[in-house]
Amino acid sequence: MDKISLGILGSTGSIGQNTLEVIRNLKRNNIIVNIKFLTTYGNIELIREQAIEFQPDFIHIANPEKYKEFLSYSIPEKTKVLTGQGELLELVKNEDYEKLIVAVVGFNGLAPTIEAIKCGKKIASANKEILVVAGKIINNLLKENKTELIPIDSEHSAIFQCIIGEEGNEISKIILTASGGPFRTKTIAEIKEASIKDALEHPNWNMGSKITIDSATMMNKGLEVIEAKWIFNLELDKIEVLIHPQSIIHSLVEFSDGSVKAQLGIPNMKIPIQYAITFPERVRSDFPRIDFLVNNKLTFEKPDMEKFECLNLAYNSIREGGTYPVVLNAANEVAVDLFLKNKIKFLDISKLIKKALDNHKPIMNYEIADIYEIDRKTREQIYNLI
Ligand code: NDP
Ligand code: MG
Repeated sequence: MDKISLGILGSTGSIGQNTLEVIRNLKRNNIIVNIKFLTTYGNIELIREQAIEFQPDFIHIANPEKYKEFLSYSIPEKTKVLTGQGELLELVKNEDYEKLIVAVVGFNGLAPTIEAIKCGKKIASANKEILVVAGKIINNLLKENKTELIPIDSEHSAIFQCIIGEEGNEISKIILTASGGPFRTKTIAEIKEASIKDALEHPNWNMGSKITIDSATMMNKGLEVIEAKWIFNLELDKIEVLIHPQSIIHSLVEFSDGSVKAQLGIPNMKIPIQYAITFPERVRSDFPRIDFLVNNKLTFEKPDMEKFECLNLAYNSIREGGTYPVVLNAANEVAVDLFLKNKIKFLDISKLIKKALDNHKPIMNYEIADIYEIDRKTREQIYNLI
C-alpha cells in the first residue's frame, strides 16, 4: 500500500483518536493518507486541532449550537464546515474517498454507513450497534454493492485474522473472550450499589463511556455475539463467550479437525484499527508488544449469566430474532445514558431492557424503515418509564 483516502465518522472519540494515531504511523511509513472528512458531535476544540493537522476537505459538527460557535474558529482555508443529518449523508455519499472508518458510537452510525455502502465504499467499523440492529440488511447491501466491511472491534478483528486462508473449511465454533469488566469478582449485592465511577473503572481498556458501561454489564459481549453472527455468518450455538481477565487473547476459532487458532496482543485498539485500514497488508508499527515472560498467565472462566443478565438478554434477543435486537440496542443505549446521568441504578439497566423486550411485538420480515421506527418508539418508551 502506498496511498489511501479515508473518511472518519467520530474522529474525536476514543476509536477516532486512535485512528488518527494509526494514520500518523502510516505516514511515518511513507504511506500517503488523504483524509476527506472528520466528524464530531460537539468536541469543537479537538476537531479544530485535528483539522489543522490533517487538512480534511470537510468537517461535520452534529450539535447545531457547537456548529454555530465553531464558525468563529480559524481553520484551514480548504476545509468546509457542515452540520445537519442531510449534509452528513451527502458527505458520505459524494466525496471521493475509498474507505469509511465508522468510529461513531451507537445507532447514529447506521444511516451514514448504509449510504456509504450503497455508494460502494469499503467500511472499517468499530461500531457494533449498527450490526446488532441491521446486520442482515447491511450484509445484503454489502453483497449487492460488491463491497466489504472489515471489523475493528478487537474480538472480531481477531476472528477475521484467524480465518484468512481457511475459506471452505468448517468452523466448529468461535470463542469470544471477555475481560469480565470491573465487576467480574463482585457479588450481585455489591454491584447493586455501584456508582458511575465504579462502573467506569475498566481493568484493561480505556474507551468511551458508553462501551465502558456496556463492559461492566457485559452487554458489550452480548452485542458482540450478535455482531459476530452477522460478520461471520454463524449459527448462535457456534458462538461462545469465555472470560479471560488478561485480555491478551482477543478471540479464538476452533475448526472441525479440533485445531484452534487465536490472535493475541496487548489490549490496544491501534493494531485492529491499522489492520482494518491496510488489510490485506500489514504495516510496521511500534505499538505495544507482548512479552510472554511478563504476560505469563492466561486464565479463563465461565461467565456468570445470573450476575450478567444483559448477556442473557442479548443471547435471547438474537435467538428469538426479528426486531428483538433493535429493541435490545435502543433500550440499552437509553438505559446506559440514564445511568450515566445518575437517573437510575446500575442493575436497573438490565431491568429496563427486559421490560422493553417483554413488551415488544416483533416483526420477523423487517425492513430498514421498521428499524428506525422501532428504535424511536423504544427510546420514547424507556424515557417515559423514568
Ligand atoms: P466515544 O464516545 O469515545 O466516541 C464517540 C464518537 O462519536 C465521538 O467522536 C463523538 O463526538 C461522536 N458522537 C457521539 N454521539 C454522536 C451523535 N449523536 N452524532 C454524531 N456524532 C456523535 O466512543 P468510542 O470511540 O469508545 O466507541 C465508538 C464505537 O466503537 C462504539 O460503537 C463502540 O462500541 C466501538 N468500540 C470501541 C472500542 C474502544 O476501545 N473505544 C473498542 C471496540 C469497539 P464527541 O466527541 O463530540 O462526543
Ligand atoms: Mg470488543
